[in-house]
Amino acid sequence: MSAPRMTMKPLMSLDDALAELLGAAVTLEGVESISTFEADGRVLAQDLVAALQVPPEDNSSMDGYAVRCTDVAQALRESLSGVAELALSQRIAAGSSGAPLAPASVARIFTGAPIPLGADAVVMQEDCEVLTSETASTRVRIKAVPEPGQWLRRAGEDIRQGARVLAKGERLAPAELGLAASIGMDFLPVARRPRVALFSTGDELVMPGAVPPEQMKPGAIYNSNRFFLRALLLRLGCAVSDLGIVPDRLDASVQALRAAAQNHDLILTSGGVSVGEEDHIKPAVQSLGSLDLWQIAIKPGKPFAYGRVQSAHFIGLPGNPVSSFVTFLLLVRPFLLKLQGATQVTMKSSAASAHFTWAKVDKRREFLRVRRNGAGGLDLFPNQSSAVLTSAVWADGLVDNPPGRTIAVGDVVRFIPFSELLA
Ligand code: AMP
Ligand code: MG
Repeated sequence: MSAPRMTMKPLMSLDDALAELLGAAVTLEGVESISTFEADGRVLAQDLVAALQVPPEDNSSMDGYAVRCTDVAQALRESLSGVAELALSQRIAAGSSGAPLAPASVARIFTGAPIPLGADAVVMQEDCEVLTSETASTRVRIKAVPEPGQWLRRAGEDIRQGARVLAKGERLAPAELGLAASIGMDFLPVARRPRVALFSTGDELVMPGAVPPEQMKPGAIYNSNRFFLRALLLRLGCAVSDLGIVPDRLDASVQALRAAAQNHDLILTSGGVSVGEEDHIKPAVQSLGSLDLWQIAIKPGKPFAYGRVQSAHFIGLPGNPVSSFVTFLLLVRPFLLKLQGATQVTMKSSAASAHFTWAKVDKRREFLRVRRNGAGGLDLFPNQSSAVLTSAVWADGLVDNPPGRTIAVGDVVRFIPFSELLA
């Protein structure tokens, strides 16, 4: 057992805490090849290079008639009616390929069908009139003069052959899966899932289902953190072992942590990292490895612990549900993405207009629960307590408010939507 080590640091900025965490998050070894169908949310482990161009050849973006513009111009000059008229020489449906376009003719063509050699435009069917007769072959009147290139999708206009379509470190979302499939990839190389052991701490916690609401003892509360933390971990591509509530004894805590460290990359706990708290997780982590307790200058979510339990990372989140939720989004999410080799790990914020006032100055950077309203601004949830989980449900994002700043109606603030953080 290595010597216990513990340091208590003064208030630390979020950026410093994040830099330290990301420094510790060495990307996991191991690439997995998985079906493109199953790859949503995973991080690409290698560049994807296109073995073919997309689209593979020039094709039509309309149902209509493929023409040679000079033929149409010629037919127009020869026409007495003032409308070009040309013979119909072939029919090309999507999935088939036509013959070269015969001189002074048009080809019936459908969206996605390859443009026949010699054609240089498509006239949409709404601008054409088909003339059939029993004696002569079918002719088509072209009522709009085409421009060369019109309604054509050029070969390679989406993807050039040999182009890198997706880079190593990109996180796969639905559009990325479609793009990978468009170059023929049925399996994708992705970073392996981080294996995360999830524990809750606190003798007051009761699992929903264990005791019905009317029989809850005074002081008991349901374990809510476990549910959102598990869901957040799954969304980030982790394999989660939900190890329940750690018994409130040192030997049991040491045993649980030691066992979890064997086959997990990260042990994540909530609760019991506040200053001065009597808790067995802290000494248990110290006895098996190392633990740094950080006081991060953010609100909600000041206490935060990072350490090692043997070869596993250890992160201790605050117990208050909103603090736990917010510190997960701000710190654990980037940490887990970095473990998977993702290049974009930090959240993007955008400018937004506050439709509320915030008069309470705090020396910590605050993350306020807000919601976009229909008037292009942000409304504030009235109760910003770190114990009020209703605020996180009501809100659709956070305002990142710098230390010491008040907010007046109309002020421009930085907004981070949950859609950015929960994806
Ligand atoms: P702690 O960080 O352990 O001091 O806990 C701070 C507050 O969060 C206390 O009110 C705890 O009861 C509450 N809390 C801790 N863990 C959980 C949990 N898993 N679910 C809901 N509330 C919790
Ligand atoms: Mg506790």
